Amino acid sequence: MLQQIITQQIRAHGTLTVHDYMQLCLQHPEYGYYRKAQAVGKDGDFITAPEISQVFGDLLGMWLIHAWQVSGMPKLAALVELGPGRGTLSADIMRIIKKNKTVEEVFTLHLVESNPTLRNQQSQKLWRHQPQWHDSLTTLPSDLPLFFIANEFFDALPIRQFVGEAERCVTLQNEALRFVPEGDVTKEDCPQAEEIMRLLAERLKQQGGCALIIDYGYVKNQESRIRNQALETSRFQIPDSKFQTGDTLQAIKNHHYHPILQDPGEADLTAHVDFTALAAIAQECGLHVHGPVEQGTFLQRIGGDLWLQKLLAKAKTPAERKSLEEGWLRLVSPLQMGTLFKVMALTPHACELAGLR
Ligand code: SAH
Repeated sequence: MLQQIITQQIRAHGTLTVHDYMQLCLQHPEYGYYRKAQAVGKDGDFITAPEISQVFGDLLGMWLIHAWQVSGMPKLAALVELGPGRGTLSADIMRIIKKNKTVEEVFTLHLVESNPTLRNQQSQKLWRHQPQWHDSLTTLPSDLPLFFIANEFFDALPIRQFVGEAERCVTLQNEALRFVPEGDVTKEDCPQAEEIMRLLAERLKQQGGCALIIDYGYVKNQESRIRNQALETSRFQIPDSKFQTGDTLQAIKNHHYHPILQDPGEADLTAHVDFTALAAIAQECGLHVHGPVEQGTFLQRIGGDLWLQKLLAKAKTPAERKSLEEGWLRLVSPLQMGTLFKVMALTPHACELAGLR
């Protein structure tokens, strides 16, 4: 069991960094959460935008066609989804692509996924598009423009935490796991996210294309404003931790918050994405950064309300209408995913992209 492996490592070395604890919990080859768990969906531990509403994938599909046009309409290109979960987002995007005569033959589908259980689900949903799976970005095609989509991928990468100058660790006290040193987390960073951004940037510079990154996270210096706004208007209980930029590590199990050091490998462990840091790396690598903007703003700017009306007009039952309306509200409402989630795009050349100006 993972608990035993972690205990042994701490006994051998005294401590384990938060980063290595998170890496083991999520990616241990046998017991890691993202190696075995069902994770996403109503029956999993958490639900994501494409699982909430088809409107999300439809809009991203149309936006992707726009990004392809802005990128000079290459005859062939690769759609690359990072961390595709149950494959729902890629399925919705490919459905939109296949309905559009100008692009229906353009894209091949590439999925970067570490979880064999989820790969299996993805293959059931996406087999007709003949996807290719990858363990990392290094094996992606090198002769095609790449159009990356990453929804709730970067939050699943292990972070380092610091208390002052000291890296925060996990240790054993009276047989229980504890954080050391005590005290408030003053800084976080995510070395794997930085490495992936550099790889992605190199590919975009060499091969062309675009990347769309959507996640819950923060833009430094803006978050205190969002926090106040959310707390003033909230009728829901929003956990305080969601709005802290100091310590953003959280565990979710069965749609509820879970103690971080309890049941390692059995709960989803994530951290808020530092969009300011990702944008800085992209710029340093010579990419153009569009946004980030809040998810609600982005989806409304790219025609979400109109698309919702179109789907509502086609809905056959009141229950279907209700589900469409509730799903849309969940995606855009500032009290739900609308402001907490951010959208950022990266391109190798300067251009104007819808929704992100
Ligand atoms: N994008 C999906 C799922 C998000 S959950 C959605 O919106 O529903 C995170 C996804 O990233 C899962 O598919 C998980 O297995 C995958 N993942 C997490 N860490 C990964 C890593 N280091 N390499 C590849 N895939 C990873």
